[in-house]
This record gives sequence, structure tokens and C-alpha cells, in this order.
Amino acid sequence: MQCIELSSTELDLVVLGALNSFMNLSSGKKRHRMCYFFRSVQVCKKTFLFVYGIGKYRLENLKAHLKRHGIAPRTHGNTARLPKNALAHETLNRAVTFVKNFASEQAVALPGRVPNFKNLKVQLLPSCESKASVWRRYIKASEENNLNAVSYTKFVALWNTLTPYIVIMTPASDLCSLCQLNNAKITKNVNVTEQEKLSCLRDQETHLHEAKTEREFMKTNIVACKEVLQGSDIDLLTGRPSCSFKGTVHYSYDYAQQVHIPSNPQQPGPIYFKTPRKCGLFGICCEGIPRQVNYLIDEAVATGKGANSTISYVHHFFSTHGAGETDVQINADNCGGQNKNNFVIWYYCWRVLCALHDSVLYSFLIAGHTKFSPDWCFGLIKQSFRRRYVSSLFDLMEAVDQSTITGVNISELCGLHDGTVKVPVYDWVTFLGPYFKKIPGISKFHHFRLTKEHPGVVFCRKLLSSEEIEFQILKDPNVRPPIQLPQQILPLGLDNDRKRYLFREIWEFCRPGTEDLVAPAP
Ligand SMILES: [Zn+2]
Repeated sequence: MQCIELSSTELDLVVLGALNSFMNLSSGKKRHRMCYFFRSVQVCKKTFLFVYGIGKYRLENLKAHLKRHGIAPRTHGNTARLPKNALAHETLNRAVTFVKNFASEQAVALPGRVPNFKNLKVQLLPSCESKASVWRRYIKASEENNLNAVSYTKFVALWNTLTPYIVIMTPASDLCSLCQLNNAKITKNVNVTEQEKLSCLRDQETHLHEAKTEREFMKTNIVACKEVLQGSDIDLLTGRPSCSFKGTVHYSYDYAQQVHIPSNPQQPGPIYFKTPRKCGLFGICCEGIPRQVNYLIDEAVATGKGANSTISYVHHFFSTHGAGETDVQINADNCGGQNKNNFVIWYYCWRVLCALHDSVLYSFLIAGHTKFSPDWCFGLIKQSFRRRYVSSLFDLMEAVDQSTITGVNISELCGLHDGTVKVPVYDWVTFLGPYFKKIPGISKFHHFRLTKEHPGVVFCRKLLSSEEIEFQILKDPNVRPPIQLPQQILPLGLDNDRKRYLFREIWEFCRPGTEDLVAPAP
């Protein structure tokens, strides 16, 4: 009975031992007359198979193995050899790269935007695509380039194991997770009692009401901002001194999916197998004008999406594009995690302490219901991007600047192809860290208010309908951070491997004349 608990190899050895004790191997005969014993009692073959829990084929194989090798563990004949149907590593790699590139070009939603997908890496493809449609594109591109391709089944298996964070949206996944869950409970589930359905209905009502109220609040602020800016010559094209404009201005900001350079809509195939030069996009929108300043962050000057980069772009915006308003309202995407949110609030607190703003209101929309102006502006940029051959940062600037006739989108280069920094990133976190402390339980709040009347105090609110809770975030209210810029963080730039790769693989895809910008000789 213990035989069932043994591993296959262990059982092999037990049976080999049992066979060995009564099989006469010295005779040299080809066939052996076998007697079977179990605990020193002779038994028939059937009983022997039964007590060891093995089949007759396994027994025959073991006998043959015993004659040839003695009591030694059997190894599977196929362990050292690759099976005939195994694909070359390169072919597999190409399929995975294809999926990744396709996703980074086509993905619609932004990381962290959809709450069912907690993974920040997640990329959502529009629901008009399917794995099969992506595979067909892949096959087509492979054929055009005479490259081996993997089957549909293998393609899907690779996708699921290596890039599970690339997901195709179901037509309903623009609903947030809570909405979906509630809707499913109310409509589909027959096992839910009427009482439960009723309470679910009430929950959903409250949830939608909250989402709506928060959005209405943002809309009201935007309308008010429009009125404030009407008649002024504020256009975000030139910066204005801080607090030179008495009034409240509303901004929204967010990151977009990065774009690839070069990108040629006429020749989409072969470059899908490569990793072209990447450029990040960070947009700050003033709906009251309306205008969005888009920071183009080439990979040669990128320092990540952390708090330091975000704060530095926002800081650059206030000093070189901002309306110079006394009071500011900001909506941002709540996807950076609590640390990042704390650091950003430290920065706004610093601004108020330094008299760069009289008051700041920093808000998030309800998760899953966060579609706002930057998304709309990024959409226009993507459309414009897909219409032209973009083969340098300057082409990308043009794609941004010409994405609307009225000039809603304007571009701001964070750096040049050669790594020259135009918009410096500062180490705000290290600079502010000694003066500020974190807000306990920050993730449950949606609104943070700071005013010059209460230096160092943050008024936090869970929702508009909730009570304000105040926190003093200065470690020592008598010690304030200085009015100066932190240490600059220098980008690492492209490493030698990446430079060589760009030159070797991407050079040929650049429009003549732009090769030395995008993929210069290392
Ligand atoms: Zn919802």
C-alpha cells in the first residue's frame, strides 16, 4: 500500500529490488522464467502487479532495464535531446517581441487605470482586436520577411506565459471592477437572494453616485476656470511669474503609453520584431483654454516614472508654461502608489510654503471612472502619430503640434537624441525628505487641500461628502525647507548595448537623414 505514496523513480527501484532478488541473471539466457515473490511468498504475476501498483508494460520495461543496467534509476530517453518539434529560441523570441511591440503601439488604456488589473505593467488592447487577429498580423509580417513563425496555439501559449499583462479588453472592461461585479450579481447570478440583490443594487447606486459627484466637481471647477481665463491672454505658450494672476486655474495631468521611433504607417511589418527607440509622453492639460503641454521624454534622458520625474515636469510646467495663478486645482491619475502620492503632496506643500501658490487642491477621481482631458488629448496625438512617418523627436514634436488645427496640443522636449537635457529632473524626494512626514492611510483619500493660512497642514478628504481631516506634515513646524532647487538627477543615457542594438537593428528603418539622430553609430 505504501507503493502509492512513492515517486515514480522510487517505485521503480523498489520493484527492481524485488525482481533482482529472484531473477537469475548469471545464466545468460535471453528469456527468463519468472517467479514472483511478495514478502517471501510466491505469488502469481497478477498479484505481483497489483501489490506494487504497476502495469504489465512497466514490469516488462523494468525487467529489460534490470538485465541491461542492474538496479539503477531509469532516465527518460528524451531528456538530453530536444524534441523534434521544438522551435528555435530565436523564433519564439520574435513572436514575443512582436506581441510586446504591437501592444505598446496599440494599447489604449494607461497603466493602473483599470482597477481589475492591479499590475501596473498591464496593457489593454482595444476590444476590436483578438489574439487571432494579432497572430494573423504576425504571420503576415513573418511571411513578408521570410521568417519562421509559430503556430496559433504556440503563439497563444507564449502570450499567456510570457506577456500575461497584455490583455484584450472585453467590450465591458471600461466599466470599473466594482461596477462589473455589482452588475454581474444583479443581473446574472440566480443563486443570490432577493435581499442580497437589493443591497447590491443599493451599493452600486452609491458607487455610481460617488463617481458621478466627484466627476461633476471636476467639471464645475473646469467651467469656473474657463470663465476666469476668458478675456485673459494666458495661453500656456509663455510662462508667467508665480502668483501674478489672481484666480483659480484647473489643470489635469497624466502619462500616456510610450511611442516608438521610428514609426512608419506605410511599412508596419518588420519593425514589429525589433525594439525601436522609445519616447515617453507626459501631458499637463488646462481645460479652460484648452491647451495641453506634452513632455516628450526620449529614452536617452528618461529617469523613470517615479515621483522625482513627475514633480520635475510639473515644476517645469509651472515655471515656464503656467498661468501664474494664485490658486491651483489639480486632477491627477492615482496610479503611482502611496509613496509617490506623499512625495507629490510634499512638493505642493513646499510650493505653498515658498509662496509660489496661495492654495493647492490636489484630487483623484474614483478608480475605474478616471477618464479625463489628458486621455482625450493623447488620443488626438496617437491619431496624428499613426498618420505620419515619425523618425525623430522633431517629427514627433510635429505630430503633437499638428494633432489639432486649433493647437490644443503643444510639445516640450525633455532632451535631445544625444542625451542633452532640456528639462532637468531634480531629486525632490531627497531634498524634501528631511522636512516632511507621510500622511497616514493616504490611499483612502481623494482630495488634498493646502493653503498659506495653515503652513504645513494638509486637509484630506475621502470623498467630497466626507469630513476633512487635517495632518501637519512638517516634521517640525518651525523648520521649513529652503526656497531652492534640489540636486539634479542626470539620466544614465543609452548604454553601449542599446546603442549597438539601435545602430545594428533600427538604423535601416529610419528615414534618410534621421539615422544619425535615432540610431547613430556607437
Ligand atoms: Zn464603477
